[in-house]
Order: sequence, then structure tokens, then C-alpha cells
Amino acid sequence: MSLTYDHYKAMSDTLSPNGQAFIDGSFCDAVDGSTFTTINPATGETLGHVAHCKAADVNRAVAAARRSFNDGVWSRAEPSVRKEILLKLAGLVAEHHQELAVLESMDTGKTITDCLHEIGTEAPKFFQWYAELADKIFGKVAPSAEDALALIVREPVGVVGAVVPWNFPMLMAVWKMAPALAAGCSVVVKPAEQTPLTAIRLAELAQEAGIPDGVINVVPGYGETAGQAIGLHSDIDIVSFTGSTEVGRMFMRYAGDSNLKGIGLELGGKSPFIVLEDADINDDLIEHAVMSAFWNGGQNCSANMRQLIAEPLVDTFLERVCQRVKAFKLGDPLDPATDIGSMITEDHKRNVMNYIEQGSIEGAQMLMGGDIDMAGSFVLPTVFNGVTPKMRIAREEIFGPVLGVISVKNMEEALAVARDTDYGLHATVFTKDIDRAIHMARSLPCGTVSVNGFSEGDIQTPFGGYKQSGSLARDNGTEALDQYLQTKTIWITTKTQF
Ligand code: NAD
Repeated sequence: MSLTYDHYKAMSDTLSPNGQAFIDGSFCDAVDGSTFTTINPATGETLGHVAHCKAADVNRAVAAARRSFNDGVWSRAEPSVRKEILLKLAGLVAEHHQELAVLESMDTGKTITDCLHEIGTEAPKFFQWYAELADKIFGKVAPSAEDALALIVREPVGVVGAVVPWNFPMLMAVWKMAPALAAGCSVVVKPAEQTPLTAIRLAELAQEAGIPDGVINVVPGYGETAGQAIGLHSDIDIVSFTGSTEVGRMFMRYAGDSNLKGIGLELGGKSPFIVLEDADINDDLIEHAVMSAFWNGGQNCSANMRQLIAEPLVDTFLERVCQRVKAFKLGDPLDPATDIGSMITEDHKRNVMNYIEQGSIEGAQMLMGGDIDMAGSFVLPTVFNGVTPKMRIAREEIFGPVLGVISVKNMEEALAVARDTDYGLHATVFTKDIDRAIHMARSLPCGTVSVNGFSEGDIQTPFGGYKQSGSLARDNGTEALDQYLQTKTIWITTKTQF
């Protein structure tokens, strides 16, 4: 049930978020007692003081995770027990989703509507889906000669470090935790420093659901402190990281400099939205074009910011896009009528504004958008025409509401421009021609290609990037579970003569 603005506002006034770390089943301060503040970027108000975890705290969390993993309380529990507890956690998240969504909205500046969907619908679904897989992890029997029985069994990898970004704080933590826990791993989660609050609350709900002490640990802190300590820790078996390509690179180095832990990377993007000449510029296409770019204020890894439009369609497309974008309401993220909330921080707003300035300097025409004179870190949805493939706004991930239209002559040019990037996370193609759709889908080097609609897929389908948008690891689908399992061969020599 959705509530009104007044209800969400009243809830926000009564929340007193816990900013402590959660280690070995207990809330605690950082070992050195230090804290950092977390701020509501839509108002500038301080929401709370959060434990600033560093290497000493990460060491404690990893020790607890290792102990819980080795004593088998979760890793060797009957799979049906893990399943029941994760289903209970799904229920608790659903039950508390309004409180969590308000907390998330305040910590991020995201709209309450998006937070309710991510936390009320998506997060419980993830715990439920992976809970249901927990007792369906089968091994294999390999063909062998009579004198052996060759078993291939699947075991949890061990202690998982989950380092997540600020754009979908709780959902990204859940994308890692749900499959890792279903596999039987113990986890140490580091939320982004901008948005630590919902992951901390989630740990409390996990304990209430019956997840044993030490299996889930949350260490809020900065990248250079807690994040690096996780990357370099020699008793973490794998790190699943979502964030920028730049920091993803560091995690590969951390692994090389420590214990060669496995590193799963879900990184940045600069995804194309391609409209071929035969497509109809109708309401549906326009809705997908603007939502693919401006959903979550453009702070989305798969945001389709390079919109490659067939030359004869550009004018109509832009007229319709601008008309639709004018109807967006910017404002208080807690108001269900708000479509676009705030940027994550004032610094990030400045970065986005620099890109907008750069676009004009490089010769693109800004049709609408830019800065807005209101308190908080808001940026208007911005639309550029006349973008060319070499401009910085066409090549770099802006991570803000900046859509750039590049005019293309034909499908071959669209494909060449779309492929000319270091990223490979996502692409959308609109065409009525099935053969062209299949050709484009096969030729685009991206983890997800959506045809005639922008979509990241669903829980059943793997999500991740080609090229510098990720590693071979995937979130979602059964592929995510695979990340947290390893295979063991058990070769049993048998007697053939009795
Ligand atoms: P970021 O890389 O700055 O931070 C991500 C996480 O890494 C945070 O927890 C941060 O504290 C930590 N970190 C930062 N510096 C670190 C360091 N030196 N050592 C260890 N850890 C460090 O990214 P962000 O700004 O939080 O998020 C935005 C980025 O995330 C964008 O590039 C976006 O495309 C990407 N993203 C990707 C996906 C995906 O599934 N592919 C999903 C969401 C976001």
C-alpha cells in the first residue's frame, strides 16, 4: 500500500538511524571510536554519525565471518534450514519496507517511489528467489571406469567481501548477499560511505530472521580505509564489487598484492539507445528513451545516455523527448509525486555540471536542462543535440541526467558508434525488422541488449558487463549463485573384484 507525502514525511521525522557497525551478531563502534556523518543530499541535513571502520574493524569482521564459516553453522547447515531463514528474511524486509524506503530516500536523495519499488518489491524477491535455490544446488557424477566413482560436488567459496555503491545502496547489497548466503558463504558487506544506513538496518533484520552470528557483518567506512582493507585481506576468498571501473581496477591489484582472491566486478557504462530508421517514434519509444536516461536521475550504471538516432527521425524524436522531460517533477524525494530526486552529493552535482559545460564548449547544443536554483544537490534533466562520438559527453560516464543525441546515417554507422567505447554493459535497440534486431543484438558487445524496450532483464537473467564494464562474474540469475560456489572433485577408488 502506498502512503501519502505527509505519511512519509512523518516517518522521516521519527526515524533515528543506527550508524554502528555490525560484527559477529552485535552492533559496535569502530575500534578507534571514529565516525563520519551521513547527509541527506536533498536537504543538506545530517542524518547521523556512522562508525568509520578501518583495517582493524575489517579484521574483526573477517575473523567472525571465517569462524562462522569454519564451524559450519551456516555453511554446512541443512540447505532447507538456509532456505527457511532466507525466506523469513524476505518476509521481514517486505514487512519493514516503508521504513527502509524512507531511510534510503533520505540517505540518497532518491525518490520514495523508486525506493519503495527497490526495497518493497525487488529486495524481498531476491531473498526469496535465492532461498528457493539453496536446496537445489546439485553436483554431478562424472563418467569413469569401473574402478572409480568420480563425484563433482559444489561447495560455498568461503568468506565473501561485498563492496557496493551508493546509487542502489540496499538493492546492490542484496544482489550480493542473497546468492552468497544461499550458497552457504559468510559475508562482510561494505556499503558506500554516502549511503550506509539501510545495509546496517538490514543486518539487524537478518539477525531477527535467524542468520547466525558472524555470517553477516557490515563495516561502514570509506573506500580507502574499509574498502581497501577488504580488497587486501588475505582471509577473504572472493570480493564481489559493484562500482566504478577505476576502483574495479584497484580490486584486481589488491587481489594480486594479497591472496589472489577471486574478484567479481560490476562496473560503469556508457550505454547506447539505438533507434533505427524503420522504428515508430511513438509514446512507448519516447517513454523508454527518457526513462532509460533519467531513471534515478541518470545515476544508473546501465543508463542509456548515448542516444543514436537515425538521421531522418532526429527532429521528431527530440521534440517528443523534450516535451516528455518537461513534465518531470523535481523536488522533495519523499513526495510520491516527485519524478527526479537529488544528486548524491554536492561534489557529484559539480561533476555533472562540469560535463554539461563541457558539452557546450565542445559544440553540442543544449536543448534543455542544466542547473536549478533550489536548495539541495539537484540538476535538471538535460538534453543535448548534435553530439559527436569523440566528445567527452559521448565517451565518459557522467552518472547524472545528461542525455546526448548522436545522429546516425544507417544501421552500420549506429553499430560502429555504439561499439566504439571501452564499456559494454547494456544497449537498447528499436526496430520493427526482426532480422536487424537479431543482427544488432548479436553484434553489440554488451552484457545485456534489450530490443524494443529498455530493460535490465529480471532476476532470472544474469546482469553484468563486457569489456571494462565488468568481469566474467554476473549478478542475478543462477549465474550469481555460481560466483559463490566452487567445485570439488571427489575421486573414490572402488574395488572391482569381490
Ligand atoms: P565507486 O567505485 O567510487 O565506489 C564503489 C564502492 O567502492 C564504495 O563502497 C566505495 O567506498 C568503494 N571504494 C572507493 N574507492 C575505493 C578504494 N580505493 N578501495 C576500495 N574500495 C573503494 O563507485 P560509486 O561512485 O559508489 O558508484 C558509481 C559507479 O558504480 C558508477 O561507475 C556505476 O556505473 C557503477 N555501478 C555499476 C553497476 C553494475 O551493476 N555494473 C551498478 C551500480 C553502479
